[in-house]
Amino acid sequence: MGAKADIAKPSKPRVAMHKFSSCDGCQLAFLNMGEGLLTLAERVDLVYFAEAGTLDESGGFDVSFVEGSIATPEDVERIQRIRSNSRVLVATGSCATAGGIQALRNGADTAQWIAQLYAHPEAISASADSTPMAAHVQVDFELWGCPVNSQQILAVVNALLLGATPRDSADKVCVE
Ligand code: SF4
Repeated sequence: MGAKADIAKPSKPRVAMHKFSSCDGCQLAFLNMGEGLLTLAERVDLVYFAEAGTLDESGGFDVSFVEGSIATPEDVERIQRIRSNSRVLVATGSCATAGGIQALRNGADTAQWIAQLYAHPEAISASADSTPMAAHVQVDFELWGCPVNSQQILAVVNALLLGATPRDSADKVCVE
C-alpha cells in the first residue's frame, strides 16, 4: 500500500504506540514481549508510548503502531496528524482494523444512548460510529487479533529493520 518498508538508517528508528478508543490490551502485548522488548530497545527508540511513560512527538515517527478505533471528532484530527508524522503506520488489533467492540453501537442511535446514560450528555464527545483507522487515513499494514500477540509486533519491526515488507503468514502474523 505504498509504504516505504526500509526504516533502517544510521540513527535508531523512532517507534511509537498510539492509543485511541480501546482497552489497552494491545499495548500490553507490546510490553509483554519479555526478552524481545529488550532486544528491540537496542535497535529502535521507543519514543512515544503512554503505557511506558514516554511521549516524545518532536521528531516524527518511523513506525507508528496505532491501537484503538476512531470514535470522536477529535480522534479524526489526531489520526490525520499522526499519519502525516509517520513513515509507516500499522493498525494494531481488532479495534484499529475493524472498529472493535465499540462498533456494536454503529447500528444504534449513539446520541440517544448518550442521553440515556449520562447526566450531562452535552459533555460527551462521540462520533455516531466507531470506525477503523483505514476509514480515515492510509494504513500500511494491519495486525489482526484481540489482542494482537507480541510476536506479530516483533515480526513487523524486524522486517522493516531489514528493509523487507512484512507479509502475511500461516499464523496471520501480518497482513498488508
Ligand atoms: Fe483491547 Fe482487543 Fe481492542 Fe486490542 S483489539 S485494544 S485487546 S479490545
